[in-house]
Order: sequence, then C-alpha cells, then structure tokens
Amino acid sequence: MLTHDGTIVIVGGSIAGVTAAEELRSAGHLGPIVMIDEQPHQPYARPPLSKAVLTGVDSVESVALSPLQDSALTHMSDQRVVDVSIEGSAVILASGDRIRFDGLVIASGARPITMADLGRNPDGVPEKVLRTVDDARAIRDALATASSVIVIGGGILGMELASAAVEAGARTVVVSNEPPMRRQCGPFVSALVQRRAEARGVEFLIHPDGARLVTNGSTPGVDTGGSTITAELIVTAVGDSPNVDWLITSGLADRRGVQVDSRCRVTPTIVAAGDITTHGPSRRRHPHWSAAIDQGRTAARALVLGDAASGLHARPYFWTDQFGLALKMSGDMPFDGSSTVIEGSLDEFSALVQFSSDDGPVGALSLNRRVPMSRLHRIAAPSRTTSEEVRT
Ligand SMILES: Cc1cc2nc3c(=O)[nH]c(=O)nc-3n(C[C@H](O)[C@H](O)[C@H](O)COP(=O)(O)OP(=O)(O)OC[C@H]3O[C@@H](n4cnc5c(N)ncnc54)[C@H](O)[C@@H]3O)c2cc1C
Repeated sequence: MLTHDGTIVIVGGSIAGVTAAEELRSAGHLGPIVMIDEQPHQPYARPPLSKAVLTGVDSVESVALSPLQDSALTHMSDQRVVDVSIEGSAVILASGDRIRFDGLVIASGARPITMADLGRNPDGVPEKVLRTVDDARAIRDALATASSVIVIGGGILGMELASAAVEAGARTVVVSNEPPMRRQCGPFVSALVQRRAEARGVEFLIHPDGARLVTNGSTPGVDTGGSTITAELIVTAVGDSPNVDWLITSGLADRRGVQVDSRCRVTPTIVAAGDITTHGPSRRRHPHWSAAIDQGRTAARALVLGDAASGLHARPYFWTDQFGLALKMSGDMPFDGSSTVIEGSLDEFSALVQFSSDDGPVGALSLNRRVPMSRLHRIAAPSRTTSEEVRT
C-alpha cells in the first residue's frame, strides 16, 4: 500500500495498463502516473485487428482507445523498459534513463511466438504475425494481392486470420497440430467452426507432429511431414509468450510470466495485470480482453488500498468473430461436457447453448445472438453469485 501522492509507473500502455491508470484514480491515488510503452502509438484495442480491421470494414485508426483525461498522467510512447531495480525502486529504459517509482504496475502483455522461435524455420522463410496495428496493416495489405495463404496454427487467432484470408478471395489452408480451436474451446465449438470454415472454402491440414517452414525454389512453403505446400503469404499464429525480458534479472518473473496473488500483487508495491500474469498453483494464464480489464482494476486497487482491496472477482468471458459466426463464451473453457441447445438452432447458425459436466452447468455459448453478458454468465453458472472468485 502506498501514500496517495507517490509516483506510480505503469509498464505497458494497452488495455491492462490503461484500465489500471483509470482505476488508480477511482481508488483515490492523487500522485503522478507514468505510463511507458514501446509502441509508437496511442493506446489501442487489439481484438478488432484480426476482425474488422483485417477485412477492411474498420480502419486501423478506429481501434484507438479513448484518450485518458488525466493531467497528472504522462504517457511515454516509443520507450522500451529493459530492466527494473527493486532496491532502487526504478525502471530502466533502453535509453539508459531511470524512472523512479513508489508503486509499479507490470502490464507488458505478450508477444507472438514464431516458427523461427520454435526452431521450425531454419531457412528464414518470411512469416507474418499479428499483435500490433502495424502487423495488422501489413497483413491487410498483403491479403489485398495474395492469391494463396497458409495460416500456421488453428487456434482462435489463426481461425480469425483464415476467415479474413478466405473473405479476401485467397485459397486458404490452415496447418495445425489439432482440430481448430479444440484446445481453447473444446470439441463442440471446434467442430462447429471447422464445418463452417470448410463450407467457406478453407482447407485443413491437421499435422500432430507440427509443421516446418521451407522454401520451394523462391516460394515459401510448409513441410507437413513428407509433402510440401506453398503459398504467397504465410501467417503464423501458434501462440504467444509473456513479455518478461525486462523482469528476469530482478526475479519478478520467469519465462512463464509474473505470478500474482488473488489481488494481482507481486509485492505490496508491485502489481501485475493482463496477458503477462499467471494465477494459482497451476500458474494458469487468462490471455483475454475481459480478464485484462478485471485484473487491471484489481491490481490498481490493491496498490492503493492494500489488504482492504477485494480479490479478483471475474467470470471468464471470451468472444470471436469469424466466417460470419459471432461466438461469445462464458465459463471455464474448454467446454468438454455435454451440450444442450436452449434457444435457436445450430443448423441455422443462431443458438444459445449450455455446457454441463456431471456437477451441473459449466459454460455457455451464444452463436449469432444478441445476449447480454450477464445472461450468458447466468446460463454458464446459474448457482454462482456475482461475488464468487474466479477459479484459477
Ligand atoms: C489480434 C488479436 C486479437 C484478439 N482478439 C481477442 C478477442 O476477440 N477476444 C478477447 O477476449 N481477446 C482477444 N485478444 C487478446 C487481448 O487483446 C489481450 O488479452 C489483451 O490485449 C491483453 O492486454 P494487456 O494490456 O495485458 O497486454 P497487451 O495488449 O499485449 O499490451 C502490452 C503492452 O506492453 C508494451 N510492452 C511490452 N514490453 C514492453 C517493454 N519492455 N517496455 C515498454 N512497453 C512494453 C507493448 O508494446 C504493449 O503495448 C486478441 C489479441 C490479439 C493480438
């Protein structure tokens, strides 16, 4: 817990950092806030980048978050933090400058894992990834001319990329080591998405041992264990890893992320929120938009109010738009249990589905329906009160 007029440094100016900045003020912090981000942009939202921005429905500029109306907040963009000194209570920038803090919010998120990172791109085949507005601009421009696209990875982001590629008119192949979105969402959603994607023309190559990027002459390709397929554009979406480089020396993080307690604290004056965090004994990550907001709020309140702050109260919520399917999910994903359509029809791609285990309902899915989030939460877990703590 801090005095209310100390300086709080936030590393990461995306949704977790911006939410924390707003919540610090609501919780009574009066002192300076310094938000540092290596992006040369104002804070922006990432979810539209793989959806309306990629398909050209929305402009890149439309993703900007509302500017913070806070005269005591300094936003330092285009500045990379390279280290933190716990004894000196300061973060160190790539320029060598030190910024002193009384409280620190770690919100540096995550970055894409590439095939090169995995040792599966020995020839240095060009592979695009999607995390930033500049990535989105580059992929959108490439899709305007590419007649063939390979997406490596059939997770949620990979499938959104495949949706944009097929909509742009490209022959689109998804190469994945498991059926689409199976690990994140479970077999029901996976089968639904695969059926719809195939109907729109996407081909799937399920290769459990993992693919390798290769060159076939000058054409980039993917070796799927014996045969090679080629495409003009290869986009990799095989997962992300937390941005922990600047935290390793201080011991505030390991390669898995920053482990936080139920109030998102690392120490009484250092908190963390968003994609960089791990929770509970299993060190689970929740790399979703609504989780970053919930954690940003919790972390900020813990910094200002200490033990008087409440713990993380959140209900897992996630959405995706792809192949004309607007999917919203609440509950403990992946949904492996039985499913019941409680409204609408799957054949018409408009339905409300409840998932249950032997112990009762565990999740809910809204498919192309306007359902308030609160109702989806109630269907997912009718017996839970709103104050129940999220399972981590
Ligand atoms: C394309 C895309 C689509 C997505 N779609 C969805 C969706 O539909 N639904 C959903 O729930 N979630 C979605 N997500 C996930 C969601 O956007 C993230 O969970 C959320 O952005 C996490 O916020 P964050 O603030 O923790 O981290 P990030 O958004 O990753 O922000 C971290 C910030 O820290 C900065 N930073 C990192 N290291 C340093 C450093 N050393 N020094 C200074 N600054 C640093 C980075 O530049 C970055 O701006 C999507 C993500 C992506 C990339």
